[in-house]
Amino acid sequence: MTQDELATLDNTKISPRERKFSHLMLWFEDLIKVPVFRCQHCGECLLSSTAFTCSQRCPKRIRNGPCGGTGKDGSCEVYPDRKCIWFLIHRRTKRMNRLAALYDIKKIHNWSLEGTSAWLNVFKRRIDPPIIFLTREQKRKKLSGQDIQR
Ligand code: SF4
Repeated sequence: MTQDELATLDNTKISPRERKFSHLMLWFEDLIKVPVFRCQHCGECLLSSTAFTCSQRCPKRIRNGPCGGTGKDGSCEVYPDRKCIWFLIHRRTKRMNRLAALYDIKKIHNWSLEGTSAWLNVFKRRIDPPIIFLTREQKRKKLSGQDIQR
């Protein structure tokens, strides 16, 4: 796997003007994503491959699966009164028959995108599009696990 495949390709600085526009877009995005998904504004949305459960609700902000501290009952290591978000993602993904999508290795989070609009970042091709916007062939590969790097 190359460095490009591990990190967000577009590393160009976001101009102050674009950042302002991004904040405006984020306001619209929040109208849906905060009440429905409890979006944490990471700017690199993963919802379509995590069964529409925001992985960024994890207190450790882990994007590729559980940390290893999940309790036997699926509880979170940091907040034992809550379920581990990756436990919930796994359960929901299984119900939706999309487990293969979880094997897709997520890119290292580009922290400079925090607080920016993920919709705008997709439009600007700064981040990968959600699975629903992939071509039929790309989607088939992703959901069948054929593009998993071993
Ligand atoms: S943009 Fe990031 S924080 Fe917001 S819902 Fe998507 S994955 Fe979660």
